[in-house]
Amino acid sequence: MASGHRSPSLEPPGPQPIRRLHESLINRIAAGEIIHRPASALKELLENSLDAGSTSIQVTVKDGGMKLLQIQDNGCGIRKEDLPLLAERFTTSKLTTFSDLSKLTTYGFRGEALASISHVAHLTVITKTKSSNCAWKAAYVDGGLVPSKAGYTPDPKPCAGNNGTTITIEDMFYNTPTRLSALRSSSEEYARILDVMTKYAVHNSKVSFSCKKAGSLSPELSTPSCSDASQAIRQLYGHSIAKELLHITASSVSDDNTDMDDPEDPEAWSADAYFTNANYQGKKIALLLFINHRLVESHRIKRSIESTYSGILPKGSSPFVYLSINLDPRSVDVNVHPTKREVHFLNEEAIIERISDAIQQRLAGQSQSRVFEYQTLLTGGIAQSASRKGKEKASNVDELEGDDEGPEADRRVSGSQVAKKVLSQHKVRTSLQDRTLDSMIPVADPLRTNSDEPVTAIRLRDIKQSTCHFASITELRRLATKRIHHDLTEIIKKHTFVGMIDLSRCLTLIQHNKNLYMVNHAALAEEMFYQLALLQFGDYNRLKLDPPPSLRTLVKFAVDVEEDTARSGMSNDEIVDRIVKTLMDRREMLHEYFSLDISETGDVKTLPHLLREYTPNLDKLPMFLMRLGPQVLWESEQECFGSFMRELAYFYSPAPLSVVSAAASDEDEQEKQKSEAWRIQNILFHAMRKYLAAPKFLLDNDVVQVASLPDLYRVFERC
Ligand code: ADP
Ligand code: MG
Repeated sequence: MASGHRSPSLEPPGPQPIRRLHESLINRIAAGEIIHRPASALKELLENSLDAGSTSIQVTVKDGGMKLLQIQDNGCGIRKEDLPLLAERFTTSKLTTFSDLSKLTTYGFRGEALASISHVAHLTVITKTKSSNCAWKAAYVDGGLVPSKAGYTPDPKPCAGNNGTTITIEDMFYNTPTRLSALRSSSEEYARILDVMTKYAVHNSKVSFSCKKAGSLSPELSTPSCSDASQAIRQLYGHSIAKELLHITASSVSDDNTDMDDPEDPEAWSADAYFTNANYQGKKIALLLFINHRLVESHRIKRSIESTYSGILPKGSSPFVYLSINLDPRSVDVNVHPTKREVHFLNEEAIIERISDAIQQRLAGQSQSRVFEYQTLLTGGIAQSASRKGKEKASNVDELEGDDEGPEADRRVSGSQVAKKVLSQHKVRTSLQDRTLDSMIPVADPLRTNSDEPVTAIRLRDIKQSTCHFASITELRRLATKRIHHDLTEIIKKHTFVGMIDLSRCLTLIQHNKNLYMVNHAALAEEMFYQLALLQFGDYNRLKLDPPPSLRTLVKFAVDVEEDTARSGMSNDEIVDRIVKTLMDRREMLHEYFSLDISETGDVKTLPHLLREYTPNLDKLPMFLMRLGPQVLWESEQECFGSFMRELAYFYSPAPLSVVSAAASDEDEQEKQKSEAWRIQNILFHAMRKYLAAPKFLLDNDVVQVASLPDLYRVFERC
C-alpha cells in the first residue's frame, strides 16, 4: 500500500534534545494569547477601570495604539504596597480561592491582563488611592518592576496625581515583531479601539468616556454620562438607529412562577435588549453582546438573532442589537480563557430561545405600527376607496377615519418601508419570490408551512368555462368581456404584492413596473368571484356543509343583527319567513344552476365553490342568505342570474374586519387576522393574477396609483 512506502529521503531525523524554553519567552507567548492587538489590551484596561468604580475614563492613542495607549480613570486606585505585584501573572485583588473563581462578578478575574501587557510592551502605572497623600508611579517589564529611568531603583516613585489610575502602554509588540507585522494599518487598529470603547460606553451609559489621538485637542469619541442605554445609543450610533429602537427585558422569572425569584438560584438570569425594528436595515449586523458586563461573542446568540430577523428584514440587511445578559457567574463557563471572547453558559439554548422569542414578539407587535405608516402616506386614496361600498357597513370606515392622522404618524412616513425598500429609482419588484412586507412579519398560520415560501407554492387548479345555452348567461359573459380594461388587467396580472395596508379597510399595496398602487382587495376579489361565478355557471363544484345548518336559523341570525328592519313595517319573524319562503320556493333552480342545495327540511347542504383553493368566510353566510331574499331580482332571468352571482361574489370577497376585531388585543383574534391576511395575499391575489379580467369601473375608486418609484426616490434622496 502507498502508505507503507517511505522514500529514503523522507526518513525522519533522529530525536532532537528537548530544551526548556526561556521563561520570558513562555510568558511572551502566553501574553500574545491574551493581547492580540491594541484593542484587546484596551478592553482589559477598560474592564479594570470599570471594576475600580470609575465614572470617567479617558483614552489617548498614538499610531493606532501601537506607539501609545493610555487610559486614565478616576476609580479607586491601587495601593502602593500592591504595585510590586501588579504585573505578575496570576496576581489579582479579585480572587483568592478556587471557590471565588466561580463567584466572581467583575470583569477580568485572573490577574493576567497587566502581566501579559508587561511582556509585550512598556507599561507604566500612575495611581493614587483616596487615602494616599500622593500618587505613585511604577514601570514594568516582563512582569516585574523596573526603574523608570536608568540609574534609578525599580521601586515606585511618589509623584503628583489625581485619585484614580493612569496606565500607559508604549511600543506594543516591540519584542514580538511577527505580531507587530500582523497588525493592519494604524487607522484600522484605531477603528477597533473606538469600536470597543463605543460598545463599553453603551453598556456603561452612566460613565463618561472619551478617546482622542495623542496631540489632538478634540476627542474623537466623547460621551457625557447618559441617563440610559437608549440615550447612549443615540449619542454613539446616531439617530437613524435610535429612532427605530425597540426594548425588551426577559428573565428566568416567569409570570406564573414567582417563587423562582431566588437570588441564590444558580439558574436565574435576566436580559435586557435594545434592537432595531424592520425600518432599520444596516449592511452588517451590529451586535453588542455583554454577558455579566463583559463584552463577549457568542456564535449561537448571533445565529439565533440573525434567524429572528431573517423573517423581518430583506436579504442582505442587518439589525443593530445591544443585548446584555446577566447570569449567575457560576453558570458561565470559567474554563474558557478569560480573554477568549466566545462564551458558553448553563442552559444556553433555552435562554437564547427565550430572548429571541421575546425579540420576535416585540418585532411582530411593531408590524402594527408599520401598517399605519402606509395609511398616512396614502391617505389621499383611502377615504375614497374605503367608502366605495355602499353595502359595506359604512360606520366601520367612518369610525376609523382619521384616527391615525396627526404629527406622529406624519413624521413616521419618511422612515417608511416603502422608501427603504426602493434603493434605486429603477429597481422594480417583479419576481414572485421577492420579499413582501408581510413575509417579514412572522405569522403562525396552520396553512402555512414556511414563511419564506414563495407565493407560487399554491397551485391553482385550472377552471374551465361551463357550456351554457342560456341567452342570459351568454349576454352577461359578453358584457363582462366588454367592460375589461386591458391596462388594469395587465397591472393585476403582472403585479408584485408589496403589503397589506389595512385589513379593516381592505387596502393593499401592489407594485407594477415602477408604480405603486393601493387597491381595495375586497372590491377586486369580489369582481373576480363574480367572473368565476359567471364562468362556471351551472357547473359549480360543491362546498359541503356538514352538519347542514338550518336555513331559517341562519337567516334569522342575520335579520336579528340587522339594525333597520323596522322600516319595512314587518316584524323580524315575518321578514325571516318571507326570505326563507322565497328561497325554499326556488330550491330546484338554486340546486340546478348554482349548486346551492337546500334540503326539503330547510337545511343548507352545499354551496357553490367558486375557487377550490379558497373557502369563503362562513361568518358571512347568514348575511348572504338573508340578502338573497331582497337583493335578487327573481323575476327576470338575466337579472336574477346576474344579481344572484353578484351576491355570491360579495359573500366570497374577504370581509372588512370589524372595528372591534381589528382592535382586538386578544390572541385568537390576532391569529385570525394574520391567517386572513395570509389567505388574501397568497390565494386571492394569486388567483387574481390568473382570473381577474379587471373592469374599468375599478379604476374609479378601487385602484389608486399612490406613487411612482422614480418620484419617490427623488423625494427620499432629498431627505
Ligand atoms: P484582574 O483584572 O484579572 O484582576 P489585571 O491584571 O487586569 O487582573 O489586574 C490586576 C489587578 O490590578 C486587579 O485585580 C486590580 O486590583 C488592579 N488594577 C488594575 N487596573 C486597575 C485600575 N484601573 N484601578 C484600580 N485597580 C486596578
Ligand atoms: Mg483585569
